[in-house]
Amino acid sequence: MPPVDRNHPKRAASSESSYSLMEFIREFPDDAACLEWLWRNRFSDDGEHAECPNCERTRKFHKVKDRPAWDCDSCGYHLHPAAGTIFHKSSTSLHLWFYAMHLMTSTRCGISAKQLERELGVTYKTAWRMANLIRNDLMAQDDDGVIIRPGPQAFVVLPKPHAVPPQAQPGTHELRPSDRQKRRA
Ligand SMILES: [Zn+2]
Repeated sequence: MPPVDRNHPKRAASSESSYSLMEFIREFPDDAACLEWLWRNRFSDDGEHAECPNCERTRKFHKVKDRPAWDCDSCGYHLHPAAGTIFHKSSTSLHLWFYAMHLMTSTRCGISAKQLERELGVTYKTAWRMANLIRNDLMAQDDDGVIIRPGPQAFVVLPKPHAVPPQAQPGTHELRPSDRQKRRA
């Protein structure tokens, strides 16, 4: 048997979890990692090039210092990875949002706003608001009415499940095959 790597604990195959807290911490160690994740998943596969709405072609972009944005090397157009998502203009850090999503998508019976308040160290009002946005705008229902728990992958603001079925909205509910979190409650 190979020696155990204590710095990289492996999830037991028998575990019901498809994404452990340790895996979350490794993938999202800080706020910048969450922002970078949004950037790569929404705009830039390679982290460098994106479609510039102003130039109307693929351009090289670079991160704007001290701002959550990338700008076009050719025309200076700013792309904000969080724009149009539930995180936009929130004073709560992306890291806390992502952690909240992880908590809400990894607990079988859901998590109360009160517990979220304790886990995140935010006010109850903030926790309650976050929980509602994540639950109502981010989580969606599948054909059987079962909640799909996409986790941080689903950053796009989804239509409310009871209002518009996700399958009727191509493009707004793209869960790629690599999505780990697609599982049932
Ligand atoms: Zn441009």
